[in-house]
Amino acid sequence: MNNGAIVPYVTAWTGERRVPYRLVARPGIGIGYTDEVMGDRDARGVLWMRAAVRHGAGRPEFGQVHPLRQRRAMRRLLCQVCAGPADRNGDGVLWLLRDHGNDWADWPEGMATVDPPVCVPCVAITLRLCPAMRRGAVAFRVREFRVAGVRGALYRGGTSTPGTAEAANLAFDDPDVRWLVASALVRELRGCTAIPPDLVPEAVAPEE
Ligand SMILES: [Zn+2]
Repeated sequence: MNNGAIVPYVTAWTGERRVPYRLVARPGIGIGYTDEVMGDRDARGVLWMRAAVRHGAGRPEFGQVHPLRQRRAMRRLLCQVCAGPADRNGDGVLWLLRDHGNDWADWPEGMATVDPPVCVPCVAITLRLCPAMRRGAVAFRVREFRVAGVRGALYRGGTSTPGTAEAANLAFDDPDVRWLVASALVRELRGCTAIPPDLVPEAVAPEE
């Protein structure tokens, strides 16, 4: 169906386009669905974006991440490409990140990411298939990777009709989280060690 291309586990498919919903703002309380069911919220009470789960149905939508598969992979530290266990050794769990080394001096130390980790074989696959990664990626071992919060669409309360939303990362104890429709779980990366280029051959060769 996909001509032999490997589709990352977290990628959304056209058959999974968002299911119908209507949001309602409850002033002083938070945002919710008009026909909310238990599965719409996680164990912390955070509301999640609704998405059909029909993995492999239709065509892959590269660049679109399925909220529930992202959440599962991130929570369980599964490889975002093959959904097997992410690689882990004494130096930590393996992450492949787009190179934003100029963002701050000790990047990616302290970075909040929505990208789940990877396994070793999937590093090369990702670099071959993902245009964004081809432009420059760095692999890291990460010792600490606590779940720091959620990323999603933040609405403002006050009226019963939700206004426009803006993208936001929020900690679970942020009071605004009640006004967020989450689409991804966020982990904070600390204790990061860049991997020597020879370990992931095609991985970290900087491009001119
Ligand atoms: Zn993998």
